[in-house]
Amino acid sequence: MDLKELGEFGLIRRIAEGIGVPAGVTGIGDDCAVLPQRDGRVTLVSTDMLMDGVHFILDEASPCELGWKSAAVNLSDVAAMGGKPVGTFLAFALPPGLGSAWVDAFMRGYKEISAACGAPLLGGDTTGSKDRLCVCVTVLGECAAGAEVLRSGARPGDLVCVTGPLGDAAAGLQVVLGGLPRGADEAALVARHYRPRPRVAEGQALAAAGATAMMDISDGIGSDLRHLLEASGVGARIRVADLPVSAELRRCARKYGWDVEKLAIDGGEDYELLFTMPPAAEAGLDVPHTVIGEITDGRKPEWAGSGADHAGYHHF
Ligand code: ADP
Ligand code: MG
Repeated sequence: MDLKELGEFGLIRRIAEGIGVPAGVTGIGDDCAVLPQRDGRVTLVSTDMLMDGVHFILDEASPCELGWKSAAVNLSDVAAMGGKPVGTFLAFALPPGLGSAWVDAFMRGYKEISAACGAPLLGGDTTGSKDRLCVCVTVLGECAAGAEVLRSGARPGDLVCVTGPLGDAAAGLQVVLGGLPRGADEAALVARHYRPRPRVAEGQALAAAGATAMMDISDGIGSDLRHLLEASGVGARIRVADLPVSAELRRCARKYGWDVEKLAIDGGEDYELLFTMPPAAEAGLDVPHTVIGEITDGRKPEWAGSGADHAGYHHF
């Protein structure tokens, strides 16, 4: 079947078919796999690939920013489980023309965000590529057994929340692709695109505060929320007017005629955390966040105040 018809997630379901996972292990379907250890802790593992021409444009992105982003998007998946990152593995396919200075600059960004998250590089693989650059990172993390927050725990009545503004990273990409002049606002959006900050401390605090389901926003909340709802077997009513949008994005949207709602819901790569929590737990929560709606006993997201059926980013 054509991959466009099957879709990225249809393909993953097909890959997952017939795979038996031992009891107590969480495999395909969450931000990280969860592997129980003997000492009452679990190991968290995730891998993410970045490809020239798909996730970045080699001529546009500085190597330092690429290094940062490659590590950050992986560390974000550990944050999304409420875990503490332990280390990363870095696999590279390097095309001709990229020399040691390029790799040095890449590693500067990679090491900076890795150090900020307490996750040293522990290994990897290096090959040449005949064509494009490909970077694949694997991250390991850990937490106490049972403390991990899956996508599947949302219950009707829980509040739906996000840890920060939405749409900035997608707007930053518009600035890059459009070759727009970089005033302070534009530069801030581009920084959100190239230098996402994984919400590691926030993820752990949210897990401790009783988040019932959590994931990071990589494909856009439109698509990511659907996955959380499917995993939990619930629906949600989201108030579009309550989605947090930065002042930088609002100003640029006015200037360039951008659709803020579309960027905030369908734009990806903000790497904020999307989580659900009972109202009583949310009332005392000291992690910065915005309540954007509630979990319902439906099956789908309802975008109150919007005419669009938001779907997020799709790879095929
Ligand atoms: P995320 O955006 O959090 O990185 P994805 O949407 O990329 O997650 O993937 C969804 C789930 O499917 C994850 O659990 C991931 O490990 C799994 N997955 C994706 N591609 C593959 C693959 N080729 N083989 C096995 N599992 C996969
Ligand atoms: Mg994720």
